[in-house]
Amino acid sequence: MQSRRKFLRYSGFGALLLQQLPLFALGQSSKTTGKPIVLSTWDFGLKANAEAWKVLSNNGRAVDAVEQGVRFTEADPTERSVGYGGRPDRDGIVTLDACIMDDKANIGSVAGLEHIVHAVSVARAVMDKTPHVMLVGDGALQFAKEQGFKMENLLTEASEQEWKAWLKTAKYEPVVNIENHDTIGMIALDAAGNLSGACTTSGMAFKLHGRVGDSPIIGAGLYVDNEIGAATATGHGEEVIRTVGSHLVVELMRQGLSPQKACEAAVHRIVAFTKKRGKTLDAIQVGFIALNKKGEYGAYCIHKGFNFAKYDHNGNELKAAKHYLKG
Ligand code: ASP
Repeated sequence: MQSRRKFLRYSGFGALLLQQLPLFALGQSSKTTGKPIVLSTWDFGLKANAEAWKVLSNNGRAVDAVEQGVRFTEADPTERSVGYGGRPDRDGIVTLDACIMDDKANIGSVAGLEHIVHAVSVARAVMDKTPHVMLVGDGALQFAKEQGFKMENLLTEASEQEWKAWLKTAKYEPVVNIENHDTIGMIALDAAGNLSGACTTSGMAFKLHGRVGDSPIIGAGLYVDNEIGAATATGHGEEVIRTVGSHLVVELMRQGLSPQKACEAAVHRIVAFTKKRGKTLDAIQVGFIALNKKGEYGAYCIHKGFNFAKYDHNGNELKAAKHYLKG
């Protein structure tokens, strides 16, 4: 998926930081298509959306649609940043992060899960069958096995080769760029008007063993409020966690922003935080997608190259997100 993102050099913070403007100044311009509708991150979202649509078009629940949708990506070994075939950490171990949230504010999450392809379904089992909301590492694996999930080797030949090549030039910190990570985040509004979302990833390639990104963290990688809307994130998880990005997007929609303007304001917050920390945006990409209760949606990212898939009654299509940096 090397063509997904194209990093451009950042030449300054000349653009307006719109989060500092009053809300009325931000305007409203989101697209609307009605329901049902499903959105997901990146071009692998097209195939995932098609699975989700089978559920949504049969009057199924959004929570089932998003689980079924992202399971497709998890099982695909050619997608090297999610599930089976995902890139390993710096020790050569594939660890998965995933979460799910439904219309009743039920949540489930797993982080650092090894050996199980369908991390999202383990997250769903955490949600449906435990009094907890998040399991990590060995405990998550133990729970998955108890639930009947099959243990598998998630490291494919292709990912192993890539890791071995990386070891020859390995730096202590993983190189954060556009080719070595991507997450499928999916949000849906079903025919009954209910929202849900799911998010799953192998995280940043060659990360430190034990590193957890935004994707399994409710509020960061995913958030759903059935009264308002849903949002999910992809990209540099550390920055999304720092701003509690998806929750921020939903709260901005609660304040009256359209999904598009809410995504833009959340990206502007990340830009402002980056500036405050004395860092540049060169190696940081973050993209948000958002959907509100009316079926209006939006997307925004830092660098050009983030795209997302939208499936509604008009069909399944890939759309380019607007971006903060010029170019
Ligand atoms: N957000 C993911 C993480 O930080 C990676 C990505 O979506 O690119 O683990």
